[in-house]
Amino acid sequence: MIIVGAGPIAAEMAQAFSRLGTRVSVIQRSGQILRNEDKDMADGVMQVLETEGVQFQLNTAILSAKDLGTEREVVIQTKGGEPLPLKAETILVALGREANLKGLNLEGIGIPYDAKGLTLDARLRTVHKHIYGAGDVTGTFQFTHAAGYEGSIVVSNAIFHLPRKADYTYLPWCTYTHPELASIGMNEKRAKAAGVEYDLWVEEFKDNDRSLAEGEQVGRIKMLLDKKGKPIGVQILGPRAGDLLSEWVAAFNGGIKPMTLAAAVHPYPTLGEINKKVAGTYLSSKIFSDRVKKGLQFFFHLRGRACGRP
Ligand SMILES: Cc1cc2nc3c(=O)[nH]c(=O)nc-3n(C[C@H](O)[C@H](O)[C@H](O)COP(=O)(O)OP(=O)(O)OC[C@H]3O[C@@H](n4cnc5c(N)ncnc54)[C@H](O)[C@@H]3O)c2cc1C
Repeated sequence: MIIVGAGPIAAEMAQAFSRLGTRVSVIQRSGQILRNEDKDMADGVMQVLETEGVQFQLNTAILSAKDLGTEREVVIQTKGGEPLPLKAETILVALGREANLKGLNLEGIGIPYDAKGLTLDARLRTVHKHIYGAGDVTGTFQFTHAAGYEGSIVVSNAIFHLPRKADYTYLPWCTYTHPELASIGMNEKRAKAAGVEYDLWVEEFKDNDRSLAEGEQVGRIKMLLDKKGKPIGVQILGPRAGDLLSEWVAAFNGGIKPMTLAAAVHPYPTLGEINKKVAGTYLSSKIFSDRVKKGLQFFFHLRGRACGRP
């Protein structure tokens, strides 16, 4: 199978088909898979897939695609500029989805839309205030949970007449490869693009006892804080990352501070301890600042003298 594109669905399908015994090649125009994710996290997924036998052709352009009858051929231009023919039984095109709006005659009633979706205001209303959009047709985040969230916004506005705007600041998502890659808020890529300065805290799954007991060593959690120490994003690459993110979903939406998370007792041995650990590592750095360390050294030095030591 040749998979064109390397987004979440392409990555998930590549691993699934590969594990079912299909030889899979993934063709990607840019130099990384899962382009919305930080490169180190996306590369982590790619390396696992590669060890399982999936082949990746990055930085490639498709020159042609042909049906040869019993098989199909895709000719790609490699990084070095050479044409490289790839043959496969099946081609899976996973280059994104267009909103299915054609044929509704929205033009006839003056509702604008483009290939991404409807033109909506923050309350998800079209130019006709009684006609709303929710789900993939909004052209924002194409997820089932985003559709559900948008549905609730529409119900609030249209049925209960309680004005509510869609806010995607803490919209989480997860790519269900193994290991999973889950994200909420800003990652390094988005923070840099927005010009937001941040501090980064990282913990590795190889240091989590439950992860080791389950034979899972790949992955890490990244916590981004703004310069005031407020969490602005978390990404998790690792076992059950989507489930592990739920604690952060509650933390972000409830305005819970890393200190609360670090102080809360988590059961041992669980994967979830990694959430506490990353928050705790940040906290230790605050508690044991250079000033505090010097103060403690001074105190223990005095105490040492009081006990008769030199
Ligand atoms: C392979 C794949 C894997 C995915 N995996 C995930 C995942 O793991 N997690 C996740 O959150 N999201 C995932 N998604 C995305 C998710 O499926 C969509 O974001 C979600 O279904 C959007 O919901 P929706 O209600 O907007 O659209 P849909 O679920 O597509 O529902 C639209 C409905 O409208 C109907 N319809 C269309 N036109 C008309 C018409 N003219 N009249 C009447 N009915 C009409 C359609 O038949 C359909 O039933 C995945 C998508 C794909 C393709």
